[in-house]
Amino acid sequence: MSLRISALNSIPTTKEQPGKITPKITAVFGSHVFSLKTAREYLSDEAYKSLVASIKAGQKIDRSMANQIANGMRAWAESKGVTHYTHWFQPLTGTTAEKHDSFFTLKSDGTPIEEFDGAALIQQEPDASSFPNGGLRATFEARGYTAWDPSSPPFIIEIGHGRTLCIPTIFISYTGESLDYKAPLLKSIDALNKAAVDVCHYFDKNVTRVTPTLGWEQEYFVVDEGLYRARPDLVMCGRTLYGHNSAKNQQLEDHYFGSIPERVYAFMRDFEHECYKLGIPLRTRHNEVAPAQFECAPIFEEVNLAVDHNTLLMDVMSRTALRHGLRVLLHEKPFAGINGSGKHNNWSMAADTGVNLLSPGKTPKTNLMFLTFFVNVIKAVHDYADILRASIASASNDHRLGANEAPPAIISVFIGEYLTKVLNDVKQRVTDNMDEQDETMLKLDIHKNIPDLLLDNTDRNRTSPFAFTGNKFELRAVGSSANCASPVTVLNTIVAQTLKNFKADVDALIEKGEKKEIAIMQVINEYIIGSEKILFEGDGYSEEWEKEAEKRGLPNLKTTPLALDAMVSEKNVKLFVENGVYTPSEIHARHEIELEKYIKKIQIEGRIMGEMATSMILPPAIRYQNLLAKNIKGLKEAGLTEEAYANQKQILDKISEHINKASDLVEQMIEARKKCNAIEDTREKAIAYEREVKAAFFDKIRYHADKLELLVDDKEWYLPKYRELLFLR
Ligand code: ADP
Ligand code: MG
Repeated sequence: MSLRISALNSIPTTKEQPGKITPKITAVFGSHVFSLKTAREYLSDEAYKSLVASIKAGQKIDRSMANQIANGMRAWAESKGVTHYTHWFQPLTGTTAEKHDSFFTLKSDGTPIEEFDGAALIQQEPDASSFPNGGLRATFEARGYTAWDPSSPPFIIEIGHGRTLCIPTIFISYTGESLDYKAPLLKSIDALNKAAVDVCHYFDKNVTRVTPTLGWEQEYFVVDEGLYRARPDLVMCGRTLYGHNSAKNQQLEDHYFGSIPERVYAFMRDFEHECYKLGIPLRTRHNEVAPAQFECAPIFEEVNLAVDHNTLLMDVMSRTALRHGLRVLLHEKPFAGINGSGKHNNWSMAADTGVNLLSPGKTPKTNLMFLTFFVNVIKAVHDYADILRASIASASNDHRLGANEAPPAIISVFIGEYLTKVLNDVKQRVTDNMDEQDETMLKLDIHKNIPDLLLDNTDRNRTSPFAFTGNKFELRAVGSSANCASPVTVLNTIVAQTLKNFKADVDALIEKGEKKEIAIMQVINEYIIGSEKILFEGDGYSEEWEKEAEKRGLPNLKTTPLALDAMVSEKNVKLFVENGVYTPSEIHARHEIELEKYIKKIQIEGRIMGEMATSMILPPAIRYQNLLAKNIKGLKEAGLTEEAYANQKQILDKISEHINKASDLVEQMIEARKKCNAIEDTREKAIAYEREVKAAFFDKIRYHADKLELLVDDKEWYLPKYRELLFLR
């Protein structure tokens, strides 16, 4: 019996017994987090104060304090059954990494004890040599170390009966180059803080800190574990490389509005429970458009914590699914022909006065502050669209962007009807010889339109990659498997740079004798005019938009190898360096790493494609071919006329054609891969892999294999079909 048939036979049908009551969320929320509240309980006053100072003001923790804090953490962790600790970090592979050490140790006289000292809390040296480092290893030392990030609290991960204390850390090379996602993210938060506080001071001197906020929405697919195992492409690549469309997929739109299937529902509640313990504030869950597709979203948080929580969530989800005999697919496009998965990044800036800087104000004055930040974000995206695009580029996200069902690869900004009106009012009223009366009138105009904006809140353009949604911007082009730190680091940095320019421009006018508020209006007006081409309110999926965008000169890079060029353009390297986010060698290394990741992904897909064709798709096709041939021969020998076996012959013809074409193409693809592998330059190699392997062969080979799927006897077919993967659970 094939793996497919046995998997189909063993999809569980039992349901949960009713009656068990789930505890209130507040009863478990954060129970596995060493929060400040827990710290208060386990630390001396002195140690607690030093921890708070390091979180709030980034102050360094000295050695003796670190010892005290580590001791308190261990005492807390041990009370929860923890035996090991690990530095938890986010290397550029895209997953999280851990290396567990036990608290257990032996004293010099052989006495066994449990300990966790400050040094072990603050710094560790995992071996960096097998993490991607894009040439940094050659230039610098191979060794890297992890360093504690006090701004994200430690937490306990539970796997089976094992419990481990995880310390969020950054990961850097011995010479200080960052090798992870977190270090540059923290630097970009800092850059944005400085630039935004300066601009806030035009309006409110009480602001001392501005923190970017992030609320992600995570889409994912869920499939039965048995069926998953029978698909080497899902196991190795996270997506199906073969599979004919199922007769019914999402066209009835019945999944989106339907109730959550019971087995998936049990899984959801289970992983949500795990998330609550970890302090991840999940809020919503629902079905998504495609069959077997779902979404969850939390309440937004400061970006550093939100990023940690999203990477944790992906991990927790994947592990919890196994307990339910399910698999979570985070790939951007696991199935051809139906929707893929993204991860919307809702982003804003919060001042420590409690004000959301992208939330329209209640008075004309606060509205000017809102307008300032709002226009600066638009200008930032206008000036740096290419690097924002690069930050979300990956082999898997290429299947979404520009594929007519997700935001296009063209970056544009949607702001809605009322804000368009507000920007037009500014343009009309701001003149060179603007006086105070004009300014007051304008403020009133703006104020008049803002209340309507609150109504406009729900009027969303789902096809825009970057949309203003009432009190935040929503970047929708992020891939479902991505680390949010990548786009958010860019967003923070480009807005920081734009705010710095803004301040310089306004100060220059004030210097010339212009009144402050008029100077601000003048520069806002200049920025509005200067970034008009990025604003687009229409259908982002349409062909007309592609043409229009080309006319406007907006970049439309559909493939990763080319989209990544923006990382190393002179302008963008300068941006990162001037804002202290990446050094030139760090950003060049990252460019190299992204290209290498791309090459490897396509290389692996190519191999699996070939292997599956020859060992799983052709064998049942050839067996069926034989059966038909024998049948025709038999009928012929029995003296029947051609009419009697005409249909069999027709099927046999088709099968033979698809078998031949598929196997020829597989051979040719192998040759093409060999040629690509010989290319030295990483960028050239990535481009060649995209054109000569992926674009030249993947769809063609798949076409013939998928035709065979329809022709060959169903019970002989090895690979679980789309209708089974998508509808059975
Ligand atoms: P919906 O899109 O379902 O109508 P919301 O607009 O309230 O819901 O929020 C969508 C996501 O945006 C949620 O994850 C939410 O936490 C997040 N969000 C809301 N406000 C902010 C903000 N100021 N900064 C960042 N994210 C936010
Ligand atoms: Mg949304």
